[in-house]
Amino acid sequence: MPNLTIDFKRYRSAKPLVMAYARFDHPRIHKSKLLKTKVGLDLDLGNGECHAGTVEELISIVKRKGLWGFCDTITDGRNNPIIHYWISKDSQKNDIPGIMELFGHETGHAIGYTSETMAIKFGVITVFSYVTMMEEVFGKKVCTKEK
Ligand SMILES: [Zn+2]
Repeated sequence: MPNLTIDFKRYRSAKPLVMAYARFDHPRIHKSKLLKTKVGLDLDLGNGECHAGTVEELISIVKRKGLWGFCDTITDGRNNPIIHYWISKDSQKNDIPGIMELFGHETGHAIGYTSETMAIKFGVITVFSYVTMMEEVFGKKVCTKEK
C-alpha cells in the first residue's frame, strides 16, 4: 500500500458514531426515525459475532463493547479513506488488544478489503502480532478483555 494515507475521525460517544454510520445508507431520514431503522447486515461486533439490528440496538451493543468503528472508503472528492471510531475511557485503559483489533480491522477495509471476513482476519492478525511481541520480546503477559 504505497502512499496510502488514512484519515481518522474520533467520536466522544457511541451514539453519534453509529448515527454517522447509518447516515451513509439513509442520508435524508429524520433522526428519530433513523434510530428505529435497521442497519448492519454484516457488522463485526467482536468475538466473530456479526449482527443486524436497529440503530438504537447497535448503539447499545457498541456501548457495551466499549469501542467500535467503521471505514468510509467512499472518496468522492477526497483521496483518503476515513476511519471513524469511538473508544470508551475504560477501553482506553483496559483493552489495548481490542483497540489494536479495531484499527487492524478498519485498516483492512481502508486498503481495499470490503469483506468482513477479510477485515476480521486483519484484526485477529494485528492482535496476535501485538500479543506475540509483548510476550516473546518483552516478556509481558497480555490480558485480553472478556466481551
Ligand atoms: Zn468491518
